Amino acid sequence: MPYCHPGRWVTKAFQAWRLGCMEKHTATHLLNWALRRSLGPGTEQRGSHLSPERLRFDVATQAPLTPEQLQAVESAVQEAVRQDEAVYMEEVALAHTAHVPGLRCLDEVYPDPVRVVSVGVPVARALDPASQAALQTSVELCCGTHLLRTGAVGDLVIIGERQLAKGTTRLLAITGEQAQQAREVGQGLAQEVEAATERLSRGSRDVVEAQRLSKDMGRLTDAVDTAVMPQWQRRKLQAALKVLQRRANTAVRKLEMRQAAQKTQELLQRHSEGPLIVDTVSTESLSVLVKVVRQLCEQVPSTSVLLLSPQPLGHVLCACQVAQSPTPAFTAEAWALAVCSHMGGKAWGSRVVAQGTGSTADLEAALSTARAYALNQL
Ligand SMILES: [Zn+2]
Repeated sequence: MPYCHPGRWVTKAFQAWRLGCMEKHTATHLLNWALRRSLGPGTEQRGSHLSPERLRFDVATQAPLTPEQLQAVESAVQEAVRQDEAVYMEEVALAHTAHVPGLRCLDEVYPDPVRVVSVGVPVARALDPASQAALQTSVELCCGTHLLRTGAVGDLVIIGERQLAKGTTRLLAITGEQAQQAREVGQGLAQEVEAATERLSRGSRDVVEAQRLSKDMGRLTDAVDTAVMPQWQRRKLQAALKVLQRRANTAVRKLEMRQAAQKTQELLQRHSEGPLIVDTVSTESLSVLVKVVRQLCEQVPSTSVLLLSPQPLGHVLCACQVAQSPTPAFTAEAWALAVCSHMGGKAWGSRVVAQGTGSTADLEAALSTARAYALNQL
């Protein structure tokens, strides 16, 4: 076993922690600068906090940031990281910093001399009032610990954004490898949304397939809502998925209605007018079965309808509706319950409409139970 001095572990862990903080802190400078560049020079920092894992940045904004603004801010930081610019640090007399246009300083008391941190431009040049450097790059008064080059930040991704109060936006960002992973996650989800869009445009002729697509949209929406990914991309995908989900649901409803209308016509042809229709219908969807019952009752309002639909492995779907009359002889819920408990299942619903499920190998016996229950009450 290799011998490790306990103190060395502490030092290593401390170094990793310190490096993480330096990375986030240097990124905070770049983020501050990028926000001003993208949202206007008057953009004020309201506070920031960092841990080795993530950085938090509060900024004064007129309105919530648009996905385009978030993306522009993130790209500006990314570009500064890619340029791998030197981070210059120098202590200067506080008086030298008084009239530098664009110089960032928080509303606090600074020591004298004060440390100036300038990205890409040596401090002396940045402080020259004629240079305008502080308007173009990040120049701040800061006593924190910084990386020596912007490239060491690795990458930056804004993973969250929310309004704290009117006029203040809180941004959450990650850097380095984590940021690159977040980009990959975002790309993966964008591809999934694209594939789902294609599936939807191809259209489905089958109710079950359409229902599956609608459920997949829901799952994809959950994934996009919770993933660690670029916030601008999340917002764009959320907007796209909202439209897709609506389209998918409409497609399901249309197919269900079409299938239900067809089944309803078949049943009407099979049954002569009477107080009762008890029959089987082949469909894989309880929702379609309920629609068939409803459509039948609309066309023959004096008839009570109970339909069963056999599924694989002896599973049975059940839906029923009781003819509307001032004094109905029995309730739909009790009727469905009688049939479904005969099949060892359960049922739920109201006085007028009900549905349920059960299992039986003898569908004829279940149909007889349904008929007998209704005829006994009528
Ligand atoms: Zn700093």
